[in-house]
Amino acid sequence: GSTIGIIGGGQLGRMLAVAAAQLGYRCHVYAPDGDSVAAEVAAHFTQAAYDDEAALSRFADSVDVVTYEFENVPVAPLRALTQKVPVRPSPDALAVAQDRLSEKAFVTELGGRTAPWAPVSDRAELDAAIARVGTPAILKTARLGYDGKGQARLQSAADADAAWATIGGWPAILEGFVRFEREFSVIVARGIDGREVSWDPADNLHDHGILAHCVVPAGGIVERQAQEARLLAMRVAEKLDYVGVLTLEFFASAEGPVFNEMAPRVHNSGHWTIEGAVTSQFENHIRAVCGLPLGDTGLAARRVTMDNLIGEAADNWDVILADPTAHLHLYGKDEARPGRKMGHITRLEF
Ligand code: ATP
Ligand code: MG
Ligand code: MG
Repeated sequence: GSTIGIIGGGQLGRMLAVAAAQLGYRCHVYAPDGDSVAAEVAAHFTQAAYDDEAALSRFADSVDVVTYEFENVPVAPLRALTQKVPVRPSPDALAVAQDRLSEKAFVTELGGRTAPWAPVSDRAELDAAIARVGTPAILKTARLGYDGKGQARLQSAADADAAWATIGGWPAILEGFVRFEREFSVIVARGIDGREVSWDPADNLHDHGILAHCVVPAGGIVERQAQEARLLAMRVAEKLDYVGVLTLEFFASAEGPVFNEMAPRVHNSGHWTIEGAVTSQFENHIRAVCGLPLGDTGLAARRVTMDNLIGEAADNWDVILADPTAHLHLYGKDEARPGRKMGHITRLEF
C-alpha cells in the first residue's frame, strides 16, 4: 500500500487520514505539535517544525505523495521536496493562496470581484490605504490569519492608530468593508487529469469571525450567485494547475459574488460533505492527490446543516446521540479553549 504524507496536524488532517484509511492508504503526519489530533489516527508521525528542512526531507523519503491541511507552511522547503516526491497541491498554488495580497491580485486578474483593497507595510501606507479604500474597513495581516485572528476593524480614519497597534509590524492589507447579505463558499476538487467537480455551495454563518453554521442547499441570493462563483473557482483551479481540494470564500452582495479569500485545502464549510454528499471533500482530496478519478459530489439528503462545536464542549451528548438525523464528530482535543473548534454535528433532512 502507498503512504500519504500530510503536513499539518489538526482536525482537517485527521479527517483526511480517516478518508485515506478507508481507501486503503496509510498516512504519515508531519506537525510541530506533540499532541496532534491527526497523528492520533495516522500510522506514522513526525514531530518537527515546518521549516526543518532535514526533517522534511526524511519525511518525503518515507511517503509516496505529500499534501497539506494547513496553508501556513513555508513554500521554499516544500519546493525542495518536489525533487523527491510529488507535492499536491503544488507549492506554487500554496504561494498564491497563503497571502491575501497575492490571492486578491490573482483573482482580480481572472476577472473576479473583490472588496477595494490596498497593501499596508508601514503606518504611513495605512493612511494612504484609508484614503484609497475608504471606511469602514478591515486591516488584516497578509499571512497567517485564521478564525478572524490578525484583524482590526476601522469605523473611520480615527481608528487608524488603534488598528495599527493591533496588526502593525506585519505585511498587511486594508480591505473595504463589504455590505453583504450572506456568506458562502465554493469547494472544488481538481484531479490530475484536470477534471473538476464542486459541491453545492454552503450558506455560512460566522460568529465573531469564526464559522459557526452551514446550510446546504443555500437557497436565496447564494443560489443565484453560485454559478458565477463556481466558474471563478474553477478558473482559479485551472490557472494554478491545481490538484486536490480548493476553497473560495465569497460574500453575496448586491453587486454579485465578492471573493474574500481562498484556502488551498479542505475547508470547515465542507464538513457537511462527510455524510451529506455522495463523496466527501476529504475523500475527493485523497483521490485527487493519489491520481484516482474523483467521486460524485451530489447531495445525499434534501437538506444538510452543520454546526461547529466551539469552545466549551456541549454536554447534551445523550440528546445528540439519540437524534437519528445527527452525526457527531469530536476531534479528540483534550483542552477546550474559547474559540477552539472541538467538533461538529451534521444533520441530514430527508
Ligand atoms: P478563516 O477562518 O475563514 O480562514 P480568516 O481569519 O482568514 O478566517 P476572513 O475570512 O478574511 O478571516 O474574515 C473572517 C470573517 O470576517 C469573514 O467570514 C466575514 O464575516 C468578516 N469579513 C472579513 N473581511 C470582510 C470584509 N472585507 N467585509 C466584510 N466582512 C468581512
Ligand atoms: Mg482564512
Ligand atoms: Mg475566511
